[in-house]
Amino acid sequence: MTKDLYLGIDTGGTAVKYEIADIDGLTLGGGEVPTDPSNATRTLQALAADAAPILGGAGWPRLAAVGLACAGIVNPVTGWLGRSPNLPGWENRDLGGAVTAAFGSLPVALANDVNGALYGEYRYGAGRGCRNVVMIALGTGVGGAVIVHGELLVGVHSGAGEIGHMVLQDDGPLCTCGSRGCLEAWAGSTGLLRAVRRLLADGVASPSLAELARRRGAALNTRDLSELAEAGDAVTRGVFAEAGRRLGQAVANLVNVLDPDRIIIGGGVALAGDLILGPCRERAVPLILATEARSLPIVPAELGPRAAAVGAASLAREKARGGR
Ligand SMILES: [Zn+2]
Repeated sequence: MTKDLYLGIDTGGTAVKYEIADIDGLTLGGGEVPTDPSNATRTLQALAADAAPILGGAGWPRLAAVGLACAGIVNPVTGWLGRSPNLPGWENRDLGGAVTAAFGSLPVALANDVNGALYGEYRYGAGRGCRNVVMIALGTGVGGAVIVHGELLVGVHSGAGEIGHMVLQDDGPLCTCGSRGCLEAWAGSTGLLRAVRRLLADGVASPSLAELARRRGAALNTRDLSELAEAGDAVTRGVFAEAGRRLGQAVANLVNVLDPDRIIIGGGVALAGDLILGPCRERAVPLILATEARSLPIVPAELGPRAAAVGAASLAREKARGGR
């Protein structure tokens, strides 16, 4: 049987998603299995069994290569996974070895999860046709990834692309990393929700925001907030606008360093759309030095939660072809 299929895996703290693509990048199917945060090999073996019907049955005779995107510090050359807070049993281990233990000896491509997502967008989503593209992923925290001349920028110590920890104000809000004033402290969902709680505590929230917070309690999320903002609540709009302006500062800094074709904004918070992207553009443009670069597109991601698995399958295909 021809080995003509590429498996892309996206490892999250609770579920591991996968996509199976052919040589043209066409997705043949996918799925997900629960993550066992204590054991990478066991999780990947469960995934291998789940994916077997598409991969030609037992032993996966059609599987040519595996790509795996994983949260944390991933060294794509050595296969080592360093710090990865949501996967305590996976970190500081040979991740490439775990893939081989589950699938046998095949070409393996590894990437950080946001790098995987950007690669997916670059090949099949919002970054199609670009050679230089930056992604900022606004989730619980804020992730980042950079492609320069068609190559993911990994860095000397696998630490490149940490856009969420770009410091924008020395005495800004405290970030999960211990620094103050990181982009993440404003534009991640944790930062946004904290800003809302502060307004409530200070008694300056609007009546409709206070009512929403009372009704939703600990379940209050950024989707609730964007619905309220879209309905016209000025205080909630202001919280998104502040996150957007901070994002705009970061975008301008990135454009002044990298001058990319475009910037892709992904992650759950980005679903707030123009509530964030409008103030982001407005703040970024005057801070960008090269006049021609001021018109660069700042666009929403297109592939949603599938992006990292799609990107990992693409990276697997390129690994099998002998690149990277
Ligand atoms: Zn930080």
